[in-house]
Amino acid sequence: MKKTSTRLADGRELLYYDSRDDAVRDAVDPRPLDPVATTSQIRCDPLLGDRVAVASHRQARTYHPPADECPLCPSRDGRHSEIPAASYDVAVFENRFPSLAGDAGRCEVVCFTSDHDASFADLTEEQAGLVLEAWTDRTAELAGLPGVRQVFCFENRGAEIGVTLGHPHGQIYAYPFVTPRTDLMLRSVAAHLARTGRNLFDDVVARERAEGARVVLEGEHWVAFVPYAAHWPYEVHLYPKRRVRDLRELGDAARTEFPQVYLELLRRFDRIFGPGEPPTPYISAWHQAPFGPSDFAPEFALHLELFTVRRTSGKLKFLAGSESGMNVFINDVPPETAAARLREVASE
Ligand SMILES: [Zn+2]
Repeated sequence: MKKTSTRLADGRELLYYDSRDDAVRDAVDPRPLDPVATTSQIRCDPLLGDRVAVASHRQARTYHPPADECPLCPSRDGRHSEIPAASYDVAVFENRFPSLAGDAGRCEVVCFTSDHDASFADLTEEQAGLVLEAWTDRTAELAGLPGVRQVFCFENRGAEIGVTLGHPHGQIYAYPFVTPRTDLMLRSVAAHLARTGRNLFDDVVARERAEGARVVLEGEHWVAFVPYAAHWPYEVHLYPKRRVRDLRELGDAARTEFPQVYLELLRRFDRIFGPGEPPTPYISAWHQAPFGPSDFAPEFALHLELFTVRRTSGKLKFLAGSESGMNVFINDVPPETAAARLREVASE
């Protein structure tokens, strides 16, 4: 893998991750872009204790690509996108309209391939492995920025999730605080450790493997299951069998096997609702331990949570009164049924 760091015309960082070690990345961004002006502000809710990123600059965009011109495609035929090269393997750049910026964090866009019409599930194992290398490198680098407490790599896929760019891409948020979900998990880990002397993640994974009813697939180094109390109609959690805190600590064997396991999961997701159904919208989210002072971060387990908001053919799960008003999820698909379906649609 070769990594090349460059700058876009407005000073934002652009990185190429190439599978070829002799790749040359010297294309210059010729666009007359104004410097990025961001005004992200993190506000704390006094009742809930959580934070809201207020990013008014996202409403006042100075650079509007025409709807028929994808900003994530390579620059070709006199058309200039966010990526000056004529093709690329994996490209990462700072979001021009970030939700978090400056002292309030950093947002990056990860382009998985220069093929506009592909999806992650269409990538080869080599390409998916390169994306894993990029996620790992970004985690290591962003962890070193002052004030960053947590790095979140994720993909929103499908218009149903609110994605407006069809080009296969994900995002990375570097938060200047520990997110509420991670904080909750760490509290559960602390309580479990005090009660039993054991690691909660280890016990959860061991229980799922022993019961088996919700296991979706198991490799030599990874196991995927629908959690006992899944929130979403189809939800899969993927864990490396050897517990590590974050992507940086993932061993070579687990790294090598990851593309095969993850691509299979994504392909099964597209088959859940049967042939002829449009691609399954999903959110894929890496959970990693926070950085900096934290008593229980060493007990955290890196894992990926993959879920869809589609509950049946043509119908979406909405976060309505109970979910949005009270944080109580109602799931119409029993986790054991979801797991059985995800085993049924395995690749031949
Ligand atoms: Zn594109």
